[in-house]
Amino acid sequence: MKVPNHQSLRYSTTQLFNYSVIQLFSLQRYIAHFDLDSFFVSVEVINNPSLKGKPVLVGGHSERGVVAACSYEARKFGIHSAMPMKKAMQLCPHAIVTNSSRGEYSRYSRWVTNIIAEEAPVFEKASIDEFYLDLTGMDKYFVPFEWTQKLRQRIIDETQLPISFALASNKLIAKIATDVAKPNGFIWVRPGEELAFLDPLRVNKIPGVGEETYKKLVTYNIETIKDIRFRKREEMEMILGKYGGDLWDRANGIHTRVVQPYHEAKSISTENTFEENKTDVDFLLVELVRMTEKVAYELRQDDKTAGCIAVKIRYADFETTTKQATIPYTFYDDELIRSAKELFHKSYRKGQAVRLIGVRLSELTDEAMQTSLFTDVQKKSGLYKAIDDVKNKFGSDLLTKATVKQNEQFKSEHAAFNRTGRKNLKK
Ligand SMILES: [Mg+2]
Repeated sequence: MKVPNHQSLRYSTTQLFNYSVIQLFSLQRYIAHFDLDSFFVSVEVINNPSLKGKPVLVGGHSERGVVAACSYEARKFGIHSAMPMKKAMQLCPHAIVTNSSRGEYSRYSRWVTNIIAEEAPVFEKASIDEFYLDLTGMDKYFVPFEWTQKLRQRIIDETQLPISFALASNKLIAKIATDVAKPNGFIWVRPGEELAFLDPLRVNKIPGVGEETYKKLVTYNIETIKDIRFRKREEMEMILGKYGGDLWDRANGIHTRVVQPYHEAKSISTENTFEENKTDVDFLLVELVRMTEKVAYELRQDDKTAGCIAVKIRYADFETTTKQATIPYTFYDDELIRSAKELFHKSYRKGQAVRLIGVRLSELTDEAMQTSLFTDVQKKSGLYKAIDDVKNKFGSDLLTKATVKQNEQFKSEHAAFNRTGRKNLKK
């Protein structure tokens, strides 16, 4: 097996094959956890450098909004993410609230993902700003801690986004350690030093331990991870039930979850070949909307959002054009329809007869990964979920047909589709 050039961080197929073989043996595991620091805020600061060093809150301005992310300056006032915006503003009245770069978050996330995909043999995208890398077996060819530092530097140099990481022997310890390393830092919890690292940390550094659990444990004189470890597993189960046992395992650094390799998700698409070739633009646009609604519905059924949309047009002479656009991750009909229409207008050659239209959504990611903390988004999600419930109950054609019929009543295709979109939103 050829030793890779130190300048290059890439691997040959043989190396990757050997890597999978190596995985079958219980070698020392090297798991890195990378987490972008206050990601949304960092993107806002790149787009508006005057925000740098100020208490910045990302989220909806509305009364019912919550803080999706906050700068480290804002954290000094006791503000944390998921806190009601109203409360955050009481704690720091001069904080700047923004989410003006919302469309940019997914673009930056993809940028970082692409860099990691280029460098790492196996990685998992755990959320919009968080990645796990499995470097097990790679210590034969390079020092994993040096490799991870180089990768971090490359991400910072190219994207300007601050990012922290930790290297450890499993995902849990790596995640806990990244939190300790933040902001803009890195840590290696060396093999054999796991318990010494965990012991002094507060119990609520273990992911999933919320305020309630923490308070309860404190009443039992359990404040640090070591305090859990020095109890018996059964004792922890007495206090917290089955979860107490899980927590005991975690306190002992036991965590067996593997890095789930990230695959560019498949696409969702639909095509329609017309019985006769069509030149009526209004008709084609009605079809386009109907088809986009169909794929958007499927997208929501899969709990996914799409980051790319493509529109295919096949003309009577079989010539085919496909135009695609990268879009902010979404599963909303109105946003997808707007993009589909734009693509259609860009590629449709006026007057030409069309025999087929297709719509494809790709770059699918889990909906949960998205910024569902924005209340307007939540409201909108609720609306679409309600529509989909009806579709599920009565068949997905019912509402689609209603919309298409409505569209047909409008003379101007643009006005028609825009009005439909807004109508859906305001209901
Ligand atoms: Mg983060």
